[in-house]
Amino acid sequence: MWAMQLFISSSMLAELQQLALAAMPQEICGLLFGRDGRVNAYREAQNVADDPLRHFEIDPAILITAERDQRDGGEPILGYYHSHPGGPVDPSQTDADSAAPDGRLWLILNGQDAAAWHATKNGEIYGRFGAMLLDCLDAKGQTAAE
Ligand SMILES: [Zn+2]
Repeated sequence: MWAMQLFISSSMLAELQQLALAAMPQEICGLLFGRDGRVNAYREAQNVADDPLRHFEIDPAILITAERDQRDGGEPILGYYHSHPGGPVDPSQTDADSAAPDGRLWLILNGQDAAAWHATKNGEIYGRFGAMLLDCLDAKGQTAAE
C-alpha cells in the first residue's frame, strides 16, 4: 500500500536524468520545489561532498537561500534529488544516515530509473525512508500511460 505519491512531469524527470548522465561518474544533487507532493521546479546544486563519486552533499549556500526564500513566502522546498551513477535507485545506508526525518521527499535517479522516498522517523528502510509511488505527468498534468 502506497501512502504517498510524488508527482513530477515526464519532461522535468527527463531533464534530471540528462543531468545525471552528463555528470557521470559524479553524483548530482539539487532541490525540488512544490506542494502536495507535486514538483513544480528544481534547482541544481553543486555537490560539495569530499568524494562526489560516491556521495553527495548539497552546497549549503543553496540550501540556506532556499530555506530563506521559503520563509519569505517563496516556493516551498519539497525535497531533494541526487543520482546513483551506475547503481540502483534505492537509498543507501549513507543516505539514511544523512537524512533528517523531516518528511521531505528524496528523488533518486541513475540516468535511467528513478524512485521516490520520504524521510521519516521509523521508516521501513534503514529506519529512515518510506517508499513512495513516483507518478510521471506529461506537460498537461495527465498521468503518463503505464
Ligand atoms: Zn544516495
